[in-house]
Amino acid sequence: MRPERLNPLFAAADGLKGVGPGLARPLEKLGLTRIRDVIYHLPDRFVSRRALEVLEEGAVGEQIVIALTPVDYRGGGAPRTPFRIMAEDSAGHVCALVYFGRNAGWARKQLPLGEKRWIAGRLDQFGQALQIVHPDTIGPDGAAALGRLIEPVYPLTEGLTQGRLAAVIGQALTHVTDMPEWIEPQLKTREGWPDWRGALLAAHKGEDGKARDRLAYDELLANSLALMLVRASNRRAAGQALRGDGRLRSRLSLPFALTGAQKRAIAEIEGDLMQSAPMLRLLQGDVGSGKTVVALESMLIAVEAGAQAALLAPTEILARQHFATLQRMLAPTGVTIALLTGRDKGRAREGILMGLMDGSIQMVVGTHAIFQDAVVYKDLALVVIDEQHRFGVSQRLMLTQKGRRTPHCLAMTATPIPRTLTLAQYGEMDVSKLDELPPGRQAIDTRVVAQERLGDVANALRRHFETGQQAYWVCPMVRESETTDLAAAEARHADLAAIFGEDVVLVHGQLKPEAKDAAMERFARGEAKLLVATTVIEVGVDVPNATLMVIEQAERFGLAQLHQLRGRVGRGAEKSVCLLLRGDTLSEVARERLALMRETQDGFRLAEEDLRLRGGGELLGTRQSGDTPFRVASLDQITRLLPIAHDDARLLMERDGGLVGERGEAARLLLYLFERDWGVQLLRGG
Ligand code: ADP
Ligand code: MG
Repeated sequence: MRPERLNPLFAAADGLKGVGPGLARPLEKLGLTRIRDVIYHLPDRFVSRRALEVLEEGAVGEQIVIALTPVDYRGGGAPRTPFRIMAEDSAGHVCALVYFGRNAGWARKQLPLGEKRWIAGRLDQFGQALQIVHPDTIGPDGAAALGRLIEPVYPLTEGLTQGRLAAVIGQALTHVTDMPEWIEPQLKTREGWPDWRGALLAAHKGEDGKARDRLAYDELLANSLALMLVRASNRRAAGQALRGDGRLRSRLSLPFALTGAQKRAIAEIEGDLMQSAPMLRLLQGDVGSGKTVVALESMLIAVEAGAQAALLAPTEILARQHFATLQRMLAPTGVTIALLTGRDKGRAREGILMGLMDGSIQMVVGTHAIFQDAVVYKDLALVVIDEQHRFGVSQRLMLTQKGRRTPHCLAMTATPIPRTLTLAQYGEMDVSKLDELPPGRQAIDTRVVAQERLGDVANALRRHFETGQQAYWVCPMVRESETTDLAAAEARHADLAAIFGEDVVLVHGQLKPEAKDAAMERFARGEAKLLVATTVIEVGVDVPNATLMVIEQAERFGLAQLHQLRGRVGRGAEKSVCLLLRGDTLSEVARERLALMRETQDGFRLAEEDLRLRGGGELLGTRQSGDTPFRVASLDQITRLLPIAHDDARLLMERDGGLVGERGEAARLLLYLFERDWGVQLLRGG
């Protein structure tokens, strides 16, 4: 049970003052459902603004604060036309305050005609007119506005503004109380880190490297501790020795011979499965190295031994794709396999649940729906987790609670993190590596092309389609908001559809799941020749006939992400091409990144360089750790602090025999705080 002193932090965020139903939705979208989540929603950066008397003093692009009086409302009638509020400065010069999406009603209320308001935001120019798009804060009080010239910039989503989010976070921070210290005292002194509470308050107030490091370290320590607890508990757990006789594997219809690396990995897994101690193995292999078939062979061993196996995919699209692939390869074996995702309802779902319970379904592929409470297995003996870095370890564990005995676990990942970090992040697992690509793969011809040459790119696409091959087009990631990302993707899709006609499909994160699948399936079947997408295709999609990848504004992506995206092509025998379109102003780092992409296809090397290029520069570190299980720690912090946390966690486990004593108690709090409390539960159970 969660320690009582943490309860206030786990109270629902919509209980905070000022969080009405209007805010609850966008907050939830950011994952901020409890006070704990809100206080850990840290600023991306801080802006300093200049206070202006009149608009004329400001420069385009500058962050300003100014008093303006709304004089007119325009537009906003149709859903896609922006709502504009014309507002005058004290000299009578006009600036438009522009709102996209469903914000018009709210904006009217904040900005009544004829009443002076203090506006903070970025001064922009549109044609000849000045404008501020989605002002960050609006208020009647000049002193308040001028007292906030340094402001945090938080990651946002539609329906939220910086001002409203900052107010909610300010509220949440009043619930933060002192905690006993879980960090080793000498380390804390050496690093000059503040207490937990002080660190949280400081991190929201201004740039403070020490505060941010301390908070990141907490998260890393929690993770390392939890992993060690898992490992320890796993050693004690009773599993099920699985011995396959090969009768199903020999009937499998594989369209290719396994690589040496695949055979080695399968042998290692087979060895683990024969033990009664549950397997905890990580299969590392770069994009395209052929992890899926290793998963399949492993699952067949479980079925040959009379038990069931499950494959967990991070997305619906990927689950469907895996299901189709496995079903095809399994056809001659007679093994029954089912697909179960959150979308299956009613009779179909009931049927699958029955089959899993009575054992007539031997394999299941799905999203996290496969480990909901209602899903009961007759004898689940192996769980394979694809793209493991997308899941927290907690999900992995929930799955392993499903069997009568602890199932074996195989986690697969496309090495999102550099070698130096594997030990610390996956320290509790054994590792198999696919360090060899299937034969016949040709290097992907990667070129950097100026964005202005879009016309040439379209011609190249046309020639490409004439050969009967397909292509991907990844739209720019405009990190400002989802709405703008989506708008960019829709606009690009319209352009390309105007040139290439019906055979162009669009996939993005806000599409209804059915529509997304339908588009993906048309593309996978070869009926659509071009797939235009936001980055949702990043993970795992496999269409070997797609051999051309266009990535717009490639300079905005990190290396690891570009590598994942590029990995969607070069999967068949045909030569593949990747065109990285770049804008006309490139930073030094961006230039270097793109050059590296041209130079190498080695995922390990790219991951390491990615880290090097990102490291150091920014004080706050960009929170692009998206592919790690960490929300607070940035990549740079992970590199610097994870090894320390790892060693410290080991000491804490060994010295105190597993979280006893004062520091041990504090460490338990930490595990609950970061929701690695399954670690604590294991400790108790064992
Ligand atoms: P990933 O490791 O990225 O998950 P996949 O399992 O999707 O890779 O495999 C990538 C592609 O390579 C698939 O089209 C798959 O059929 C093919 N493939 C896998 N193993 C081999 C092999 N030994 N020989 C030839 N092609 C293979
Ligand atoms: Mg894969």
